[in-house]
Amino acid sequence: MAMLMMSKYAGRYVDPETWRRELLEAIPDLDFRLWPEVGDPEAIEMVLADFAPPGFLRSLPNLKLVSYLGYGVDNLFKDPELPAKVPITRISGAGIADQVAQYVLLYLLRRHRLLDHYDNLQRRRRWDPTRPKRNNEVVVGVLGLGTLGTKVASILAEIGLPVIGWSRTLKRIDGIECLAGEEALADVLGRSDYIVCVLPLTPATHHILKRETFALCKRGAYLINVGRGGHVADFDLIEAVDSGLLSGATLDVCELEPLPEGHPIWGHPRITVTPHVAAFFVDDGIAEAAENYRRLKRGEQIPHTVDRAVGY
Ligand code: NDP
Repeated sequence: MAMLMMSKYAGRYVDPETWRRELLEAIPDLDFRLWPEVGDPEAIEMVLADFAPPGFLRSLPNLKLVSYLGYGVDNLFKDPELPAKVPITRISGAGIADQVAQYVLLYLLRRHRLLDHYDNLQRRRRWDPTRPKRNNEVVVGVLGLGTLGTKVASILAEIGLPVIGWSRTLKRIDGIECLAGEEALADVLGRSDYIVCVLPLTPATHHILKRETFALCKRGAYLINVGRGGHVADFDLIEAVDSGLLSGATLDVCELEPLPEGHPIWGHPRITVTPHVAAFFVDDGIAEAAENYRRLKRGEQIPHTVDRAVGY
């Protein structure tokens, strides 16, 4: 039973040699292969991947499990020949959620606590205490209450910010006002001063933030998108910011990655962009991959599998 690792981020987010070494420490007799050295395709029963060329997974006759090297599996669904019956699982450990929560806190508090304003004052050598908004004068709307959204929402609530969380099915989370379903989206957007998108990218969430939904937002709301670039219609966002409908945005993810050099987001004074780095380390996946391999061998249920019907 061989395990094949396929990462387009090898050498950046993923160090395949660390994975190989640690997986072999956990499973000494493991037949570990690194794309593109596939070897005999019949031996491959488990694939660790953050991408796969269309049709490739289908060409593995004995494939039993795909373990995604991250949280958001949308990349795999781009393959029209993705084998329908092979389960897909994803990393579930808290490491990625911790990193994304840090990112959201950083960019949200930068604004809530007027950091850009004070940087500006320091450059002008001015000592001018300025009243920020009190916690109870703002509302944070968190779109998506999964592993990430729950972490983000809970930490924001813990530091005193009122949080509304939105998901597909209704959740109960201490200290968070939870709403669910398409019909509740307008309410969340209309009440939120900060909108934090931590949704998975699916047909139902593609361009969920576009001209029509920006029009539902509270005037001056600030968007932080750490989900996927496909959640936001870029040019509608620019229009919403330029018109004052939104006060600005921080985007960790873009529809086109890398963001093309000539894209107007690069130079926009009220949009901050980072190169998909909210979470950088996916090492939680090593122990989880080893455990999934053992479960597969024992014929046991694999946890955290993706529901193909909803796409996450
Ligand atoms: P989960 O699958 O754990 O949770 C997804 C959440 O979104 C759930 O609460 C789900 O609702 C909700 N949701 C899904 N579809 C809809 C919909 N149509 N309407 C309303 N709510 C919906 O995902 P994670 O929290 O693990 O990750 C979220 C995404 O974050 C990933 O898919 C990935 O795209 C992105 N990500 C980005 C990173 C970065 O570095 N920028 C790093 C890691 C992830 P319900 O609870 O009812 O199922």
